[in-house]
Amino acid sequence: MSDIDFHQQREHLIETELRLLGIRDESVLQAMRVVPREEFVSEDMREFAYRNTPLPIGSGQTISQPLIVAYMTEALELGPQDRVLEIGTGSGYAAAVLSRIAREVYTIERHRELAETARERLTQLGYDNIRVLHADGSQGWPEHAPYNAIIVAAGGPGVPSSLLQQLTIGGRLVMPVGEDQKSQRLIRVIRRGDDEFEYDEMGAVQFVPLIGEAGWQDEVETRSPRVPGKQPQGLPERIRQAAEPIVSPDHPDLGGLMDRIGDAEIVLIGEATHGTSEFYRIRAAITRELIENKGFDFVAIEADWPDAYRIHDFVTHKEREEPHEWEAFSRFPTWMWRNQEVLDFVHWLRDFNLDHPNREVGFYGLDLYSLFTSIHCVLEYLDRVDPKSAEVARVRYGCLTPWESDPARYGQAAITGAYRNCEAEVVQVLKDLLGRRIKTAVRDREALFDAQMNAQLIADAEQYYRIMYYGSDESWNHRDTHMFQTLQSLLEHRGPGSKAVIWEHNSHLGNAAATQFGKHGQINVGQLCRRAFGQNVYIIGQGTDHGTVAAASHWDGPIEIKEVRPAHPDSYERLMHYSELDAFFLPLTRSHDPQLTTALAARRLERAIGVIYRPETERLSHYFDASLSRQFDEWIWFDETSAVRALSTQQVAEHEPPHPFALMDD
Ligand code: SAM
Repeated sequence: MSDIDFHQQREHLIETELRLLGIRDESVLQAMRVVPREEFVSEDMREFAYRNTPLPIGSGQTISQPLIVAYMTEALELGPQDRVLEIGTGSGYAAAVLSRIAREVYTIERHRELAETARERLTQLGYDNIRVLHADGSQGWPEHAPYNAIIVAAGGPGVPSSLLQQLTIGGRLVMPVGEDQKSQRLIRVIRRGDDEFEYDEMGAVQFVPLIGEAGWQDEVETRSPRVPGKQPQGLPERIRQAAEPIVSPDHPDLGGLMDRIGDAEIVLIGEATHGTSEFYRIRAAITRELIENKGFDFVAIEADWPDAYRIHDFVTHKEREEPHEWEAFSRFPTWMWRNQEVLDFVHWLRDFNLDHPNREVGFYGLDLYSLFTSIHCVLEYLDRVDPKSAEVARVRYGCLTPWESDPARYGQAAITGAYRNCEAEVVQVLKDLLGRRIKTAVRDREALFDAQMNAQLIADAEQYYRIMYYGSDESWNHRDTHMFQTLQSLLEHRGPGSKAVIWEHNSHLGNAAATQFGKHGQINVGQLCRRAFGQNVYIIGQGTDHGTVAAASHWDGPIEIKEVRPAHPDSYERLMHYSELDAFFLPLTRSHDPQLTTALAARRLERAIGVIYRPETERLSHYFDASLSRQFDEWIWFDETSAVRALSTQQVAEHEPPHPFALMDD
């Protein structure tokens, strides 16, 4: 992305967000205008530099949200002759902003690595009125006191008196203060006299904790502690012994895993989140190996059929002549498939198919959320091959048309009797299509298959939206059954002996019978595969302890890069963390250590982060009870992980055509 873009984005952030959100001080807005936030984050975070959110900067810390930086700076009422002290240098960004208004800035950071990086960065960028110190700053920096302003960028239990003593008379201090380490209120203190301080409150905020002498004890871990507490004797050591280290998620040594997969024809590769780069990358690496050296025929993913079929067309060099009227993976959560990691794999697969004219490795979607796009695809197909049938189908699908903007409301209206049920209509279109036989070219057989799969999806989705109101188990089971049946149709379509790799969340692929959900009657793709294909299936799960993840805070919410909390002490993840290995494969069912397999069948907590992550209620929202070695054949572990690199609509549009995700021009 060019500097011009960053410049525009910066202007946009200042003019349309900060100003609108109430920042009035022109000197603050001007300072924010001249400090390039993209220079204070890592390469892979640069594209998010002008989102109004905190971003990870390493060592478990964050660069503050631009609005908060502006808000706190404004509250300091800085003048051009002021000397400022900042506690919590982090990336150095806020110090840079302060330095554009005040005469000199002293800033302290307790993490050595962050302090050193910030110092180097600020020097390189030419900020010569800032001094960075690596130390506990909770007691200030007395050598340079007094300060006209003090800003504390981490939350403490109270305002340290040593900081107050380092203020000039008339000096201002701004700091988040809270009774616990997770939420605070922003406090401003003005020193009116030697012992006279005026306090006011500026609203609720959430900062990382101030750790130090006059802050909190270092007990909030930025990662889980690595000293086993009450873990069963020797289990972390056993894990360590059995683990096969992973050096790189892009180029892992796959020899052992491939031996264990053996002749299995269906390999399921799960993930503990829908937004972790390492999970996507190692999954792609394993899949490449399965395709290249074990003759796997297709990849099927937890995405809607029509979107994934666009990718299928792309990787098999069959882009349609007609322009696509919708953008692939544009429905929430866009980042789940529209990301750099997936794009890299898609390009690899396209090249692979080009180099292997006798192979045609496919790429399909198993999910059912594309009711109306699928209707559009069926009608488009019929318009092309049989306009009369298209008219009939159009009338039948017309039953669902009123609900296009919100299909869930259709389900509600249908079951309460407020609207008629469209089941008969959608099933009839499906029957008509299934009855169709095309004896002509292979290309047309493919197009018919695509239309049939869409018609099946429509029938299942219609039912899904009605069932949704009976309870979550029923609709979950219906959805997973649809995904499993789609897989079966694909295996049949691709012919005898065809081999499939499936990419979905752990919760769909790990055998549900080994989890608390199975106990309550839920089934899933993993369980149905195990039942149908037995040992011909190899199920792999993936997990992490801490890092960052791309997720939303609520359904339909924007993507956020969130910090993943260190794993719960009673979880499998914590156990993996204790092994003290950064990344590894852990064979579970085909292990040389059967005692380990048995030990890992004991029920523990397991974490599942979907497209939504709510760290505030993590135990309730994201942990469930499971028996790991009954759920999976193999476990992949990354102790620290990073968020997937989402692609924006604009990035997709700017990409050289043909592009698998983008709209195509007429
Ligand atoms: N101002 C930073 C920026 O612009 O990137 C963001 C600060 S971040 C929200 C808070 C920082 O405070 C973290 O880097 C953390 O390590 C640091 N911190 C916490 N306790 C500290 C202490 N006692 N002394 C110095 N730094 C501390």
